[in-house]
Amino acid sequence: LDAILKIKNLTKEYVMGNVVAAALKSVTLDIYEKEFLVILGPSGSGKSTLLNIIGGIDSPTSGEIFFRNKSLNNSTEKELTAYRRYAVGFIFQFYNLIPNLSAKENIDLVASISKNPIDTDILLEETGLKEISSHYPSQMSGGQQQRVAIARSLVKNPEILLCDEPTGALDIKTGIQILKLLKKFNDEYEKTVVIITHNASIALIANRILYIKDGGIDRIEVNKNPIEADDVVW
Ligand code: ADP
Ligand code: MG
Repeated sequence: LDAILKIKNLTKEYVMGNVVAAALKSVTLDIYEKEFLVILGPSGSGKSTLLNIIGGIDSPTSGEIFFRNKSLNNSTEKELTAYRRYAVGFIFQFYNLIPNLSAKENIDLVASISKNPIDTDILLEETGLKEISSHYPSQMSGGQQQRVAIARSLVKNPEILLCDEPTGALDIKTGIQILKLLKKFNDEYEKTVVIITHNASIALIANRILYIKDGGIDRIEVNKNPIEADDVVW
């Protein structure tokens, strides 16, 4: 399989007063086309920093990222915006829906700025939101809001879906529904999915598991027999 993203010697440092804190220390990693990658590591280990840099919403202190062999470091602001807008979908722990728009309108809004959107009605159906498509975020449960957030990321038909603790605020049963949806997107649409979590049991659904420790890669495991989301226990 080809690498969709190549990450080379990535570092991120935060300067606070006269103290320099290294959030990422020379991370080198390939992310493959169509893989389901889980990034595991304790709180504060650099997972979100890595994901945000991969997604082009944060920049590294040094190092390089290539998306389909094109360097993001040497991209213009316009090219970076296009990368964020068309290539990458983000899902966060908190759903960040627009409160005065319905489920369908939240999704349609993103569809309207996409080049090659997936049909909103198909996504509402696939994410089990058809019956509540006219509901506002305040009328939905956390799991329903997260499904809208997922549909909203998928509607733009991104090549990579980046998920930062997508089940972090959900109970087990709802969390499993969300994981099933992400796995389905990976299987059916054959897109790359990267999930970060501090929950080790989720990692068993991945093709590969990347362990992050103190801002560096501790190890990478290949999982030959990923389990179904239904079989996850935590
Ligand atoms: P994780 O997602 O694994 O919990 P983060 O990537 O959020 O870890 O953070 C990694 C390290 O970088 C932590 O020590 C954190 O305190 C630090 N950090 C993250 N963002 C900032 C920031 N904006 N300013 C200073 N330090 C930061
Ligand atoms: Mg984090």
